[in-house]
Amino acid sequence: MRHQAWVVLLAAAASACSIGAAIAAAPKPVDAARIQAADAEPGSWMSTGRTYGEQRFSPLTQVNVDNIGKLGLAWSYRLDVDRATEGTPIVVDGVMYVTSAFSIVTALDPRSGKQLWKYDPKVSRDRDRDGCCDVANRGVAVWQGKVYVGAYDGRLIALDAKSGKKVWITDTVIDHDRSYTITGAPRVVKGKVIIGNGGAELGVRGYVSAFDAGSGKLVWRFYTVPGDPSKPPENKAMEMAQKTWFGDTYWKQGGGGTPWDSFAYDADLDLLYVGTGNGSMWNRGVRSEDHGDNLFLSSIVALKPDTGEYVWHYQTTPGDSWDYTATQSIILADLSINGTQRKVLMQAPKNAFFYVIDRKTGELLSAEKYSPANWASKVDMKTGRPVESADADWSKKAQLVLPGPIGAHNWQPMSFSPQTGLVYIPSQEAPALYAPNPEAKYGGKGTWNLGMQPIALPEDPKALKPIQDSYKGHLIAWDPVAQRAVWTQDYASAWNGGTLATAGNLVFQGTADGRFVAYAADKGGKLWETPANTGVMAGPISYEINGEQYVTVLAGWGGAYPLALGAISTTAKVKPEARVLTYKLGGQAKLPPPDRKPAVLPEPPVLTANAATVDVGRNLFNAHCGMCHGPNAMSGGVIPDLRYLTPQKHAMFAGIVAGARAQRGMPGFSDVLKPADVDAIHQYLIKRAQDLKAELAAVPPVAGGPSAP
Ligand code: CA
Repeated sequence: MRHQAWVVLLAAAASACSIGAAIAAAPKPVDAARIQAADAEPGSWMSTGRTYGEQRFSPLTQVNVDNIGKLGLAWSYRLDVDRATEGTPIVVDGVMYVTSAFSIVTALDPRSGKQLWKYDPKVSRDRDRDGCCDVANRGVAVWQGKVYVGAYDGRLIALDAKSGKKVWITDTVIDHDRSYTITGAPRVVKGKVIIGNGGAELGVRGYVSAFDAGSGKLVWRFYTVPGDPSKPPENKAMEMAQKTWFGDTYWKQGGGGTPWDSFAYDADLDLLYVGTGNGSMWNRGVRSEDHGDNLFLSSIVALKPDTGEYVWHYQTTPGDSWDYTATQSIILADLSINGTQRKVLMQAPKNAFFYVIDRKTGELLSAEKYSPANWASKVDMKTGRPVESADADWSKKAQLVLPGPIGAHNWQPMSFSPQTGLVYIPSQEAPALYAPNPEAKYGGKGTWNLGMQPIALPEDPKALKPIQDSYKGHLIAWDPVAQRAVWTQDYASAWNGGTLATAGNLVFQGTADGRFVAYAADKGGKLWETPANTGVMAGPISYEINGEQYVTVLAGWGGAYPLALGAISTTAKVKPEARVLTYKLGGQAKLPPPDRKPAVLPEPPVLTANAATVDVGRNLFNAHCGMCHGPNAMSGGVIPDLRYLTPQKHAMFAGIVAGARAQRGMPGFSDVLKPADVDAIHQYLIKRAQDLKAELAAVPPVAGGPSAP
């Protein structure tokens, strides 16, 4: 459906009466009526996807294809933590609310960037080990004078929107002996705060919870995978799911399916849509005896928001074995398909297929590859199931599978323009070698639980280069009706930013190589770009105050790609400086210069271990340290590169691994590493520092290398 005339009309009305007037009149607090009528106040960005349909489309037109060249920085604000910066700001009633890593909430004046208040939930920095993919937070929800944030440690916190003072705290975690985390933004539907959790890499049972927005009391909880089969299932949905799981491993270690990011709501149908995550373990052969669809992994589940009652589901990846989450953006739209208006739901999950689904019934309308993939040839429209290829089965032998676990599209939000009818997907080609570890056992809280060998990369930079080069990024403008790309923008690096579409015929996106860019939404083509000093991942927003349109993005680098894939991500060549960047026409503010210096390699200590010990150290490092510090001790630049340890750090190495710097973000590992293990890892790091010294002697260092530890 083309809403063009309607959107132009709304935009004209907005600029005529000015959003500033609405602020001065102190409207009633954000509630269901206001969010459902979000298009009536296009100057606000009231919920994470702007509307309950999560299109991330701004009806504002002041900034448009004709004047985009005049867009300049209005203000910037330095965030507290230079880690995963993934949040979408909320702007409503004259205040901007942003979050940074470790779930810190800051309220800013959206015209100036002046800080109004800050709330740090003081997440213990040693909780780092409890998540797969950095200590991210993707934003808050605002409702009836309160601001809601899900803290990384699983607390759901309500703050007073004016003062930032705590109103209530609820613990969403059912079992603190498991690695549950929250990274996603809450949504508020019918007075209930909806929040899921993460942890499927570490062994948890996923669920989504609804808490009363006023009191913080639990209203309902929907588990996404079954529990102990000797106990009665919680509901009919779990009874159905139970029949698709086998053996004992899954329920003892937790089957996964964590709904850690995407939700959408249709008020007319009164359905809440939940995107669910991958299985624990990844290896389905270990998890559930190599068969079974394992409901509701990698699925979109429709629930009644009042009760959490199951209505329908569509499983994108039955029996997922590749970390193919269906937690990616869920966007609702009304599309004309074969001459019929359909209420659809769209998703481009990690598995590289773009799904168009009837959101009333869950009927699959179409599914085509939006990105290259070798795991499945197509989706069979008769059965709604993917046709898996032999190349995908890694249960018995290692396989190079495309996409790998970071997916053809990850959490970086996509957007949809009703004007162009196109979906703007931040996509990537990112293959991975999956090598089975059939002996894998659940290792306890804070340990990875994949049923897979650690990611193996070559240490030799020359051998690494072609693997780096095989990782690419693309912005894809996708026609969801024709199921084809209309235009594509290519990037040298994967892990580019979320997208914003506007009625000014623009698409905004940050890039992994440190830029913020605008394209023509209909035809593609770069119209404007500006440096951001850092890789940009988050989804931009737009708002209007006192007749001026602003565009804001949280700039900052981190997440699974630079942490777990380390050296592969260094094609991004940027520093993780986290900032809020806000632009407007004629903006004259200056972006501060990069404030980190290129690292200088300290003289490595003498290697005292033999080759066998160094080998032991390598394996231990890659099993326990590599998913944050990078495989083979080649960091992605966010977490310290341990080849650059100073003499002081070498001297206190065992103490650091035991937890001496836990409150600075380096958790202790005494529960899994014995002193001899720590020694072997240390010797491996000395060996790697010496390797680097030899490489640098051959090639002089360039600016933009790894940061010093
Ligand atoms: Ca995952």
